[in-house]
Amino acid sequence: MKAKLLDLRVATLGAGTVIRRALPQRELRRIGAWCFLDHLGPQGPDQGGLDVGPHPHVGLQTFTWMLQGELLHRDSLGYEQVIRPKQVNLMTAGHGIAHSENTVSDHEVLQTAQFWIALPRAQKDIPPQFAHYPNLPERVDPSGVQYVVLMGQFMGLESPVPSYSPLMAVDVKTGQAQQLEWALNPDFEYGVLVLKGQAQIAGQIVAENQLWYGSVGQSALAIQLEAGSHLIVLGGAPYTDEIAIWWNFVCHSQQDLEQAYQDWQGDHARFGVVAGYEGPPMAAPALPDKVRFS
Ligand code: MN
Repeated sequence: MKAKLLDLRVATLGAGTVIRRALPQRELRRIGAWCFLDHLGPQGPDQGGLDVGPHPHVGLQTFTWMLQGELLHRDSLGYEQVIRPKQVNLMTAGHGIAHSENTVSDHEVLQTAQFWIALPRAQKDIPPQFAHYPNLPERVDPSGVQYVVLMGQFMGLESPVPSYSPLMAVDVKTGQAQQLEWALNPDFEYGVLVLKGQAQIAGQIVAENQLWYGSVGQSALAIQLEAGSHLIVLGGAPYTDEIAIWWNFVCHSQQDLEQAYQDWQGDHARFGVVAGYEGPPMAAPALPDKVRFS
């Protein structure tokens, strides 16, 4: 097994929202089709909430796992959905969609994990879709470890969230220290994102805000958790198509990217209009002549 330990990159969004980005990184582009991983917050109500105006996506699915607080999603298909803790929003951009996200209450702590899934080449231009999943399967071990299965299968539980490629994700929380062994799918590569606390994985210390990566070929993982730890485990079959992630687009060619860019800048019907959002849509940054595909 090849393992890597990566620090998360810290970025700020808008007024004062801190985002910790686990993927993509130079040393690790993706884990299966999971191609973008952000941990937002936790941030207090004094930090001004979150207000992300209408912006486009193509070629990907956005996967939102709410941890604290609430967000209102609006999109150009006409969906208006409040997402609350322990719920998932899955938005399939495919050929094109636009959406906005904002906090609805200004007195709550906000924390969310926002991930992107790269669509396989055969599905990159499917029609856009949106779905809200208010209930995910959950299990609490006698030792007190809580597992919520967000995607795919884990420990005999199966998430209702569908995917176009083999994927899994599970949220793991523990009150007390734990020594665990998990069965893995040897066809999957895995990432463990430590949101809180500390883990020891296959003998390696993984601190808060670090990402551990393990390549395919493992059928079990030994993991020790400090008391009060909170992790997200992600896995998937290696995604082998070459893609570029530029701004809010996942594209399979420079030509696709240029078309998406021009269509958004030209208010093309492909992206539609986000009704109900007060404020202007986002402008794309300047598109480079040649974007790197990997
Ligand atoms: Mn978005």
